[in-house]
This record gives sequence, C-alpha cells and structure tokens, in this order.
Amino acid sequence: MKIICIGRNYKEHAKEFDNPVPEKPIFFLKPQSSLLLRNRPFFYPDYSNDIQYETELVIKIDKLGKNIQEKFANTYYNEIGIGIDFTARDLQRECKAKGLPWEISKAFDYSAPVSSFIPKSDFEDINNIDFHLNINSNLVQKGNSRNMIFSFDKIISYVSKFLTLKTGDLIFTGTPAGVGSVKINDLLDVFIEDRKMLSFRIK
Ligand code: MG
Repeated sequence: MKIICIGRNYKEHAKEFDNPVPEKPIFFLKPQSSLLLRNRPFFYPDYSNDIQYETELVIKIDKLGKNIQEKFANTYYNEIGIGIDFTARDLQRECKAKGLPWEISKAFDYSAPVSSFIPKSDFEDINNIDFHLNINSNLVQKGNSRNMIFSFDKIISYVSKFLTLKTGDLIFTGTPAGVGSVKINDLLDVFIEDRKMLSFRIK
C-alpha cells in the first residue's frame, strides 16, 4: 500500500507558510514504513529538532482505480479516519531552500500515525466534518472538511490520473492552519467530531 498526502489544501494553512493557494492539488508520498498504528508512541528522531504535527482527515481507498472521474470518485472509498502528517520542519526547510526532494522530512519511519476508520455512512455530510487535535488536553489545531480547497472526490480524481489507486491505499487530505511543534512527553489526542480517534505519546 501507499500513503498519498495532499499539500496546501486549506487556504489558511497555505498562507501561514506564505505559499500560494494552489490551482491543482499538490501531493507527495509516504511509504508503508511510515505508518504508526494502534496508538503506539512516537519516538522523537535524533535527526530533527523540529518535528511538527499536521492533523489531517484520511480516506481509505477500497477499490482499484485509475483515471477515476470525479463523479464516480465517491465509490472508491467507504471509510474516513484521521492521522498526523509528522513533518521534520527543519529538514523540510533545508530541502526546500536547496530545491531538493522532501522525503527525509516527510517520509521517515512512523511519520504517519493513523486512527481506525469510520464508515462514511456515519456522517451526515462528509463535506462538513469537524476535527481537532489536543496536546496535553489543550486544543492546538482544528479544522472542518468544508474548508478544503479540493474535495475528497477531486483529490481522488486528480491523483488517479498519475497513480493507480489500490485497495488499502490511504490519502491524507491536507492540514488546516495551526501546525506546530511537539516535544517529548506530549500526549496527542486526535478527534473527529467528539470521537477520540487517536491517543498517543511522544517519547
Ligand atoms: Mg500535511
């Protein structure tokens, strides 16, 4: 399986890094080895001094597809979860400045904690899903899927032009504004609506 991550999918987040609001989705990949499951702790790596959280809704692909039309995209996923797109911001800054690929800042081991999944049918409107992250019981980041620049269906349609989507692939759909750093001993609790989906510690 692969993990596809959408960048700059919320206007307010694009602005916080002085990035232009994109006209097309931007995506990058994380490998399977970046998955962190079952609320396991995240061990702060020694190669970064600025690991930042990005809280993102995650959709799980459940059907093989290529060149998927937007109007059919909703039949390619049935479940929505949430994850953290951990980013070594210091390494990412260096890579960007030098025009180098980003993998060391985004695709490192355990950089993708992911929750369990909720069936789409449990939501009244998947284009109006609240989510948030608490660190040590303080709200640090919140978003709503209505503020995405590109909808779940648009993302699937666009990505599948370039990459064949396979059952089990995950798509991180972008972070809202309010990203920030984590430190050792922090407790991260991640919610969809009022449901606690993920709870793990930085070690
Ligand atoms: Mg992200």
